[in-house]
Amino acid sequence: MASEEQQPVKTICPYCGVGCGIQVNPGEEPGDMRFMPWGEAPVNEGKICIKGGAATQVVNHEDRLTDPLIKEDGEFREATWEEAYELIVSEMERIREEYGPDAMGFYGSSKTMNEENYLLQKLARRYGTNNVDNCTRMCHASTVWALRTSLGAGAMTNSMADLREEADVFWIHGANPGEQHPIANSVYFRQAVLEGATVIQVDPHANKTTRSFKIDETDRHMHLQVEPGTDIPLLNVVIKTILEKHEENPEEGWIDEAFIEERTEGFDHLKETLDGFDKEAAAEECGVSLEDIELAAEKYASADSAAIFTGMGMSQHACGVDNVQNEINLALITGNLGRPGTGVNPLRGQNNVQGTCDVGAMPNVLPGYQLVDDDEARKSVEEVWGFDVPAEPGLTNVEISHEFGESVKGLYVMGENPVMSEPDSNDVAERIQELEFIVAQDIFMTETAKYADVILPATTWAERGGTVTNTDRRVQRMRPVAKVHENTKHDLEIVSEIGTRLFGEDGGFDFEDPEEVFEELRLVCPSYHGMTYEALGEEGIQWPCYEEGDEGDQYLYEEHFDTESGLGHIEGVSHTPPAETPDEEYPLILTTARLEEHYNTGTMSRRSPTLNRQHPENFVDIHPNDAERYGIEDGEQVTIRSRRGEITVEAQVTEDIKEGSIWTTPHFAAASANRLTNDVLDERAKIPEYKAAAAEIEVG
Ligand code: SF4
Repeated sequence: MASEEQQPVKTICPYCGVGCGIQVNPGEEPGDMRFMPWGEAPVNEGKICIKGGAATQVVNHEDRLTDPLIKEDGEFREATWEEAYELIVSEMERIREEYGPDAMGFYGSSKTMNEENYLLQKLARRYGTNNVDNCTRMCHASTVWALRTSLGAGAMTNSMADLREEADVFWIHGANPGEQHPIANSVYFRQAVLEGATVIQVDPHANKTTRSFKIDETDRHMHLQVEPGTDIPLLNVVIKTILEKHEENPEEGWIDEAFIEERTEGFDHLKETLDGFDKEAAAEECGVSLEDIELAAEKYASADSAAIFTGMGMSQHACGVDNVQNEINLALITGNLGRPGTGVNPLRGQNNVQGTCDVGAMPNVLPGYQLVDDDEARKSVEEVWGFDVPAEPGLTNVEISHEFGESVKGLYVMGENPVMSEPDSNDVAERIQELEFIVAQDIFMTETAKYADVILPATTWAERGGTVTNTDRRVQRMRPVAKVHENTKHDLEIVSEIGTRLFGEDGGFDFEDPEEVFEELRLVCPSYHGMTYEALGEEGIQWPCYEEGDEGDQYLYEEHFDTESGLGHIEGVSHTPPAETPDEEYPLILTTARLEEHYNTGTMSRRSPTLNRQHPENFVDIHPNDAERYGIEDGEQVTIRSRRGEITVEAQVTEDIKEGSIWTTPHFAAASANRLTNDVLDERAKIPEYKAAAAEIEVG
C-alpha cells in the first residue's frame, strides 16, 4: 500500500489512441514506479492491454539519455545544457541568415503532448516557416483530409461509447483494433457484437480482430479478405449494389433519400461515376466473391445505425483520400451520419495523434485546422501571437526529407524517428547525412538521433504533465509521477528556452508550465476554447467545446456539416491501383501492419522486456501455396527484396494472408519493413503508400 507521500497518480497510457486511464504508483525511489489499474477511468473502465501494463518499463530503462550530447569529429561527447542551447541557437540563426527560414524543417510527434506540439509549431512559425509536421502524416493524413473537406472536421465523427450502445453494424475497414486498439476492441466493439451487433471486417490479412469476432456460427461476422489496394472497387460494388436495390425496391429504404436531399451535395456525381460500373469484374479484382460483397452491402444498408471504422489499410495508399471519401459516400447515401451509432471513425494510432493535428503541428493548418492560406484565420492567430505567420503552406515531413541537403539544410526533431518511420528508409538514412545541422530531442538514442549534431535528453510520459487528445476527441490530462534523471528536461521547457533565446523574453515563448501554454492554445483553437485544466478534471472533454461550461460532444453533425455549404460532400471515386503492382521481377505484393506488442519504430516497446519477449524479431506471413512455389518452410529465414532494399526475417507459413501477398511489420531496426516500402505520395494529403509494394522473396 502506498504511503501518503506515494499516492498513485492518475494519468493516461502513453501508447495508442484509445487513451486508457492508468494509475502509476511512484514507489520508494524515482524509477521504482509501477503500473496500477484505474477502475473508474473514463475510457477503459479499468481494463488495460499488454502495452499499457508495461508502459512504466521504459521510464527507468538503462538506455535513457541523461545528459545533452554534442557531436565532435563524428563522436558524441557530454555537454552542458548551456553549450547545447548556444550551439542550437547559433546554428538556427546561421541557417536562416544563409538560406532563409524554409531551410529548416521541424518534426513534432504524436508521442508528445498538445502543449509541446503547440509550442514547437509556434517556434517554427516564429522562425518564419510552415515546414512543420508530425507523424500523423504517415498514418491518417488522408483520412483527415477527406473528413475535413467533405464533413468539416478531421476526426472521429462519433465516440466509442455511443457506438457501443447504438451501432447495429460495425464496418471495420483496413483497421485491426484487436491488435492495435485492444481495449477499444474488447470493451466496446466486441461487447456490442456479443450483444447482437454485426461486424464486417475488410482486410487483406486475417488477424486478431478477425479471431476476436468468431463468436458464434452465425453470419454476424464477415471477413472480406481483399487484395491489397482494391478498397475503392470493393466499396464501389457495395455502393452500386445499394443503388441498384433502391431502384428495384424504393420503399425498402436502401438509401436515405431525405437525408441525401436535405443534407448532402454531389449525389449525381457518384451515380455518374458508377454508370456502367462492372460489379463482377470489380469483385474479381478485389479477390472477394460478389455474393459476399452484396451480402455485406445489405447488412450495412439495412441497419438502423451503421458505423464505419477506418484504419491505415485505407489511409496509407497513394489513393488514401479517395479511399476514405468512398467510405464517406457510403455513410452519406445511407444517412449514417449525425446520429449516435453511425459515422466514419478513424482509429488513431498514437496516444496524441489527434491532438498533434488539433494544435496545428502541420504545414497547411494553424491550431484548430485553420488554413494558413486563409487570410482571416491567419490574422486572428497572428493577433494573439504578435508576429506574422507565412501565408504559404510548408512542406510535409516526407517532402522535408526529400529535400534534405537540397532546400532543407537543418532539422529539429522532437520525439520522432524518421530514419525508421519513413518509407524507403535506406534512402532517408543516406539523405539525412546531407543536412548541415540536426537537433534530436528524445528519451533514447534513436536510429535518427545517431545522425544528430546535438541530442537533448527529454523526460518520459510519466515525468511531465500536459494534455493529450485520444481517438474520439477526448482531451485528457496526463500528470507527472516523478522525475527519474535530474539533468533531463521536459520537451516544453526545452522548446520554451530555445524560443526565448531566439526571440527574446517578449517573443512569446516564456511559459512557466503546461497550463499556461494551454491557456494560450485555447485562445487560438476554437474547438478547445471552452476547456480549462480544471474543467478537464479526470473525465476529460470531447471537443468541440466552444464555451466554458460546455460538456463537449459525443457525436458531430447532428444539424449540419461544418463545410462551407453546411452539406456533406459526396464525390464518386474510381479505382487507382497501387503505384507498384507485381511483375516478373517482383511477383508479390508486400503489405505492412503493426503488432499489439510493439509501437511504431519500437523505440520504447523494443526496450520493454515484457513486450519484446512476445516478438523479439520481425517475421513475414506467406501463404502456403507461395511458400511451396518458393521452396520456403515454416520458420525458415528468408530475404524479401523490393526496388528499394532488402530485409531478412523468419517466414510464417499461414493462410492468414492471401496467395500472392506477403505481410510484415515496421517495428524492428534490424529488418524494418520500411526498407522496402514505397515513398510515392497521395497527391493531396502527401501520405506515403506503405500498404502496397512489389516484392520478391527467397530462402536465406
Ligand atoms: Fe494503452 Fe491503447 Fe492498450 Fe489502452 S488499448 S492500454 S491506450 S495501448
